[in-house]
Amino acid sequence: MEKRELLYEGKAKRLFLTDDENLVISEFKDDLTAFNGEKKSSEAGKGALNNKISTELFKLLEANGIQTHFVKMLDDNHMLHTKVDVILIEVIVRNIATGSLTRNLGIKDGTILPFTLVEFDYKDDDLGDPKLNDQHALILGLVEHQDELDKLRRMARQINDILKPYFADKGLNLVDFKLEFGKDKSGNIILVDEISPDNCRFWDMESGEKMDKDRFRQGLGGLTVAYEQVLNRILGK
Ligand code: 5GP
Repeated sequence: MEKRELLYEGKAKRLFLTDDENLVISEFKDDLTAFNGEKKSSEAGKGALNNKISTELFKLLEANGIQTHFVKMLDDNHMLHTKVDVILIEVIVRNIATGSLTRNLGIKDGTILPFTLVEFDYKDDDLGDPKLNDQHALILGLVEHQDELDKLRRMARQINDILKPYFADKGLNLVDFKLEFGKDKSGNIILVDEISPDNCRFWDMESGEKMDKDRFRQGLGGLTVAYEQVLNRILGK
């Protein structure tokens, strides 16, 4: 597969065209950003860890019937995947209250939610990714029909139903995470982007230690050590 011109550069990945119009390559960067790009840094090896973690999780989800954009991992920092039209909605899934939920609604940090909460954020850096309800999403034309919003919620819950027990088995609480979806050339809604400690929160079940990007957001240090631990637990090491 030939890597061709740069299509798009995001905060954590670069996207390249290939010699196949239906396939693109993501390069996972070592760059770290938080608070809508206000805090920036870089950690050697972070991109490769996220590529490897995402690869394993996409394979797990595919094996459990979730359609994703994943095709294969090409090398440490590159993943080959299907080209899609990205839906500009960040689907946030929460099992335990923390982060913006705690800040916005005053729910005590660490509260186990009575049921899994699925929220939508508008994927727009200039606006700071504001919360969306279904009517906002339809008025903005982010999807065509209510059915598609229902499908995003349904897929998000299915993904949580696979990932939450999977990580519990590895001693990690899957606190919350962000998913992105896109439409492939047939119009199917599939899971895209990455699933990694950059967009999930993992808390160690015994120590409560944070094993995700909150280590950077909160200046705790030890980010790559934590990401490596997440990968090793996935690989059963
Ligand atoms: P919160 O809304 O509490 O900041 O984030 C909820 C969850 O979604 C966290 O796991 C967080 O990592 C993820 N998340 C929300 N927005 C973004 C985003 O813009 N980028 C990334 N990488 N993750 C996000």
